[in-house]
Amino acid sequence: MATTAATSIAAHPRFEPVIGLEVHIQLLTATKIFCSCSTRFGAPPNSNVCPVCLGMPGALPVLNKKVVEFATLAAMALQCRINDTSIFARKNYFYPDLPKGYQISQYDKPLAEFGYIQIPGSKTGEGNQELRTENRELRTKKIGITRVHLEEDAGKSLHEGFPDADEKTAIDLNRTGVPLIEIVSEPDIASPDEAYQYLTRLKEIILYTGVSDCNMEEGSLRCDANVSVRPRGQKEFGTKAEIKNVNSFRFIREALEYEIGRQIDVIESGGKITQETRLYNANEGKTYSMRSKEQAHDYRYFPEPDLLPLVVDEKWKAEIARALPELPEARRARMVKDYGITEYDAQVLTFSKSLADQFEEAARAAKNPKRVANLVQSELMGRLKSKGVEIEQSPISMRGVAASADLVEAGTISGKMLKDLYDLCFERGKDFPAVYEEEGRPQQSTDTSALEKIIDEILAANPKQLEQYRAGKKTMLGFFVGQVMKASKGQASPQIVNELLTKKLG
Ligand code: ADP
Ligand code: ZN
Ligand code: MG
Repeated sequence: MATTAATSIAAHPRFEPVIGLEVHIQLLTATKIFCSCSTRFGAPPNSNVCPVCLGMPGALPVLNKKVVEFATLAAMALQCRINDTSIFARKNYFYPDLPKGYQISQYDKPLAEFGYIQIPGSKTGEGNQELRTENRELRTKKIGITRVHLEEDAGKSLHEGFPDADEKTAIDLNRTGVPLIEIVSEPDIASPDEAYQYLTRLKEIILYTGVSDCNMEEGSLRCDANVSVRPRGQKEFGTKAEIKNVNSFRFIREALEYEIGRQIDVIESGGKITQETRLYNANEGKTYSMRSKEQAHDYRYFPEPDLLPLVVDEKWKAEIARALPELPEARRARMVKDYGITEYDAQVLTFSKSLADQFEEAARAAKNPKRVANLVQSELMGRLKSKGVEIEQSPISMRGVAASADLVEAGTISGKMLKDLYDLCFERGKDFPAVYEEEGRPQQSTDTSALEKIIDEILAANPKQLEQYRAGKKTMLGFFVGQVMKASKGQASPQIVNELLTKKLG
């Protein structure tokens, strides 16, 4: 396991980390970026290939329009400026999984630039103070996005899963030419925690646009983390290391924590950081040197002669922008306003677009939307948390919450009955409407004669409290209501109990 020196590093008295992230995201188009081969994951090796993506001489790339639209949409959602013209370039290097000997990417003229992602301000006080807004509740920080550019993916070397894997490496070229965007952040990230937040927000925004599934296991989202440390107060950056191929956000945070500690140790003991690429070993929680700057590639970039400059004019931009959904940040702000819920609840309810859609659909269909939101926060969240269940796996759906809210709203069931029914839903792993049926559609008791009997008993059993009430201590009413509710096992309507009691005591 990783050493979790995280907090001590964040608060290191003499050094502060500087982090910049490079994220590759696969776009969910049906076909590749420069040919019409399928992008389907898990197809038999080397079945989704053609002369173009195999890099045969003379085969010409043709740019996929959908790829441009998806990439532009993502860049817009990341608040970028879309360049009217961007240029494809050849990035030359030799590797077995790259049959052409170069990758088509974008270099000095990327598709989009100057974006940002808003993250919650870090609690440690770490980070760029000027970028924070003053609002304490919603304290946020902007992480700059340097560029978003288009490129093609390379193939994949296979080291296992075939007969002579102990002697040979196999190549699967299905992935060559799969469309990617690379999102490069400014070195604005000031702690491993902020890196985690940035990635979480980035994924959330991309999922909202629908241009990728951001599935890390399938390689649809890959992150390289650049990190350096510098003495506090120093303006110049230190020498950075790049950590590659880390396959979860949690591991990226751990890898950064380890790497920051390592760099500080090197410097404090009189050593120097060398610019290098490092790999993270999640089992050991350590990073290891993979290659140094001396072995770094000279990519000899030059403009791709087989592709025209990419022009995204104002008209096309406007068309693409029409597909922009309401983004999570804006949606949260609106939901806080519309449903009177807290920022935190809005955060949970917008965990995914589908959940937020479900919630809003249910809330709007219910008689009282705010009651739905209240039930989610007062009754659902706590139960989910104590059972360790994610809201997306909740036995009670948003529609179920809405149905229960309507029953309470109509006075059919009491709050206590609702709680019991929710408990049953969790026990049985069933949604509210099903359990409500199973329980024989219970209703709270409005049978006043039965209630009056209970009230008489309660009053007789508590003469002291009755005396206090009669002596003017009107708050005793609450005590009696509570006792009657308890005696009725929560089946009574608090409103009716209140009325009957007031009448009796009056
Ligand atoms: P390279 O030319 O080595 O690829 P770039 O300048 O393109 O470096 O930056 C790559 C990523 O590294 C960016 O996300 C950037 O913000 C980040 N970065 C650059 N310099 C530093 C540094 N000294 N410390 C940490 N991150 C850095
Ligand atoms: Zn192809
Ligand atoms: Mg670079």
